[in-house]
Amino acid sequence: MAEILTGAPVSEAMIRSLIPRAEKLRIGGVTPRLAIIRLGEVGSQLAYQHSAQRMMARIGAEAECFVLAESCPKAELLALVEEINRRRDIQGCMILRPLPSPLDEQAVCAALVPEKDVDGVTPASLGAVFTGRSVGYPPCTAQACIELLEHYGIGLTGKHVVLIGRSLVVGRPLSMLLQARDATVTLCHSRSRDLPGLCQRADILVAAAGSPGLIGKEHLSPGQTVIDVGINTVRGRLCGDVRFDEAEAIVQRISPVPGGVGAVTTAVLAKHLIDAAEKTALPG
Ligand code: NAP
Repeated sequence: MAEILTGAPVSEAMIRSLIPRAEKLRIGGVTPRLAIIRLGEVGSQLAYQHSAQRMMARIGAEAECFVLAESCPKAELLALVEEINRRRDIQGCMILRPLPSPLDEQAVCAALVPEKDVDGVTPASLGAVFTGRSVGYPPCTAQACIELLEHYGIGLTGKHVVLIGRSLVVGRPLSMLLQARDATVTLCHSRSRDLPGLCQRADILVAAAGSPGLIGKEHLSPGQTVIDVGINTVRGRLCGDVRFDEAEAIVQRISPVPGGVGAVTTAVLAKHLIDAAEKTALPG
């Protein structure tokens, strides 16, 4: 049976290291504060907002939620982002997405200053992931996969990582973070030929397709580590992209859904907020 790579010990270790950093900031007169922008009442976004608020409370940071109407004009949203850019008491901002159409999500994300882009959505943050510069922050889910692998001592140097999904939220930035750690990365997508054959050759397989049960025994080999990023709802139940029962019987290690990568994502958000607050408290 495979070792189960649960996210809770990873996020707990991160929280333990963030609490004294947040306290030191508060003693120095800087209360770490995250702005959360939400449009409308989408259930999954409300759930993520609440989980981010709980995480901020745990580390001793504050979360300030700005709620706008689903039909809010672009100018009103941009004015809010500008206000957050200006406010010295807010060091990080998360814009809950997807934004309702016809809002131009790219333009809204680009309006945020990279110093406060703790969720890795601005062109500057994404560019930095690709160029290796330290501007902004990588997308939290991509970084959460790295945190999970590092916590469980799974080395990346020289490993062949097969990554399924090429979105700007997970797949593409994660491919860069992995290459920066000397992994050899194969990035797959919906047009990739022979996905089972490609997956079988992986040392580490990361599934981020958003397709429930896409990966099963025909994709897997003994000795592999499988990271399931997918979050899908099937008949009211959360599941990943990997058929867990089939995979658990074959591979060496696997992260579950729920309770795997998703459990680490808000801890990464908190870490980015503390990093950002420390940069404002100790400029340069
Ligand atoms: P996305 O933007 O829809 O991208 C999905 C990617 O998977 C695309 O590149 C797509 O290929 C590829 N793909 C889809 N079906 C495929 C198939 N049958 N075979 C091979 N490739 C396939 O999704 P996303 O935003 O990256 O999210 C991916 C999953 O991660 C979702 O389940 C989402 O809920 C989950 N997620 C989890 C967290 C977390 O905290 N754990 C955070 C964010 C997202 P094409 O490019 O060719 O279309």
